[in-house]
Parts: sequence; structure tokens; C-alpha cells
Amino acid sequence: MPEDLQTIKKHYELAIVGCGPAGLSAALNAKIRKRDFILLASEFCSPKLSKAPQVENFIGFPEISGEELRQRFLNHVKEKEIEIVPFKVSSIYQGPPFTLVSKDQSFEADAVIIATGVSVNKLFPGEAELLGHGVGYCATCDGPLYKNKSVAIVSYNKEGEAEANFMADICSKVYYIPYYSDIVKLDSRIEVKKGKVKGITGTQSVERLDLNEEQLSVDGVFIMRETLPAEQLVVGLEMEDAAIKVNHKLETNMPGLFAAGDCTGQPYQLIKAAGEGGTAALHAVKYLDNLKSSAQKVPAL
Ligand SMILES: Cc1cc2nc3c(=O)[nH]c(=O)nc-3n(C[C@H](O)[C@H](O)[C@H](O)COP(=O)(O)OP(=O)(O)OC[C@H]3O[C@@H](n4cnc5c(N)ncnc54)[C@H](O)[C@@H]3O)c2cc1C
Repeated sequence: MPEDLQTIKKHYELAIVGCGPAGLSAALNAKIRKRDFILLASEFCSPKLSKAPQVENFIGFPEISGEELRQRFLNHVKEKEIEIVPFKVSSIYQGPPFTLVSKDQSFEADAVIIATGVSVNKLFPGEAELLGHGVGYCATCDGPLYKNKSVAIVSYNKEGEAEANFMADICSKVYYIPYYSDIVKLDSRIEVKKGKVKGITGTQSVERLDLNEEQLSVDGVFIMRETLPAEQLVVGLEMEDAAIKVNHKLETNMPGLFAAGDCTGQPYQLIKAAGEGGTAALHAVKYLDNLKSSAQKVPAL
């Protein structure tokens, strides 16, 4: 287990998934309300915010770059002694308590706020249909199922390199299809393919990955994006127009599960994300209080 994951407890009142403006604002409010919470993040907090060249519509900051605003957000949570825990969530199982799973670890939380942003990359043809039948988002989680088999890893970032290296020890063949430049750490047994994905095909399960200039016979395809499609993160999560369906309290269709920021739909704006994050945290706090008081009312047997 990596050292930085050792501090994770088995159970929290609240888990906040994502460290963009929505997740950071949710964490700030949870901290002010003195809740027992954890803030989970993938490698870099908000690549989107960092890429915004000039932000002109964030009240109080008439002219600021996205990166400067990002640093201010991070400083603010640091000042409040909020820890950002590296933990890319691969699945959330319905609760309460909810179970949050990464490739290394899992823990429970009574309430969860999803603040994972949106993926700018569309799903590949065949991806949704074959999900769970050879298509997956965490190679290291499913690795043993592919012993002596052939897999392809399609990755939008360097995170895929570690996954591919892990699979090289297990599989008979590993293809790596990077959607970024400068690969650094790939095992020599891995074959890099530079093509773009046209689709994933198979009848019962994955049989082939079609690239623009060739077809690869594979048993599994793993796709590593910055953000997982929300409906893949939580099975049964209700969606509307490709966004998580929420009400004005930022509640989803599952009690105790809230969502905030770009993942709840357009407009994709910083002020909306930060506002929804804070609002979701306040409603999550209310939810937790109700959960506690109803548990206290249950007569002892
Ligand atoms: C180039 C550009 C310019 C922009 N300019 C403006 C502007 O001028 N004004 C404006 O209002 N908006 C602007 N935006 C939009 C703004 O950046 C977004 O609306 C805002 O960042 C959304 O915040 P969020 O917290 O919902 O999601 P994000 O900022 O996308 O943050 C989500 C975070 O969650 C993490 N994450 C995702 N999945 C997981 C997981 N499974 N486990 C753990 N962590 C996870 C991601 O790594 C990311 O750090 C711009 C966007 C871009 C790309």
C-alpha cells in the first residue's frame, strides 16, 4: 500500500470525491461545520481550472488567471488544515454507508458528494455496451482476470503507464495506446500503438479493438481518463442529458449521495461549481444530522 494511503480510516461521515472548485468548496464547508470528512483527489487538482488563461467572471477577482485562482483555492483549504488525499475513486457502492473503492483501498462513508467534473472525451463506440464484459477503467483492479490474456490500455494521461506495466507481468500481450505525448516509463514487453480508437467490438465480451489503421485482437480494453463517466462510478445513478440528475439540494436519486459542479450539467462555470459544492456540503450535513437522530430513536431490542 502506498504510504500516503495509510492514513485513511475505515469509516467517515462524509466523503468528497474531486478537488476542483466544487470539491474544495464542499470540503471548506464541511470543515467549518466540523464534520468528520475526507477529500479525495486524483493526481492534480483541477487541470481545467489550471488551463483557464484568464478568468473574468469570478466575483471579487476581476482579472485573474485560472492557475492563480487554483493556487488561492488550494491555499485556502491548506490554511483550514484540510488534507487532500490522493485516492482516485474507481467505484462507489450504494449505501448508507457507501463503500468507496480505489485500486489500492476501500473505506465507508455515510454520505458522499461527487464533484468529479466532466470528461471532455466522448465514450468510444462499443465502450458502454461492453463495460464489465472486457471494458474497464482500472486495470490493476481487474488484472488477475486477464492472466495470460491479451489487453489494450488506452490512456489520456501518464496514469496509464503504471497500469500497463502492472499488466505486463500478468498478460501474454499488452498494447498501449497513448492519447498524449512523452511516454516515460513503459516496460519493454508493452507494444505502443499510435493510432486512434475507432471502436471496441465483441459479441458476449471484448474481442477486438479497432484503431484507424489496424485491428487488435484483445480480451480486455482499459480506458484511463482523468474523469470516469459518473454513471460508471455509481451503478444505478440517475442521469439526465449526460449529467448527474440533482434537485436544488444537490441530492441525487440515492439518499445520502450528492453531486456538485460540472458533473451536474451546464453551465460549466467556476462560480456554479463552487456554489454547488458549498450547498451540497450544507445539505449533506443536514442529512447526516437526520441520519444520526433517526438512529438514536430506534429502540434497543
Ligand atoms: C480552458 C478553460 C477555460 C475556462 N475558463 C473559465 C472561465 O473563464 N470562467 C468560468 O467560470 N469557468 C471556466 N472554465 C470552466 C471551469 O474550469 C469549470 O467549470 C470548473 O473547473 C468545474 O469545477 P468542478 O469542481 O466541477 O470540476 P473540475 O474542475 O473538473 O474538478 C474535478 C476534479 O475531480 C478530480 N476527479 C475526477 N474524477 C475523480 C475520481 N474518480 N476520484 C478522485 N478525483 C477525481 C479531477 O482530477 C479534478 O481535479 C474553463 C474551463 C476550461 C477547460
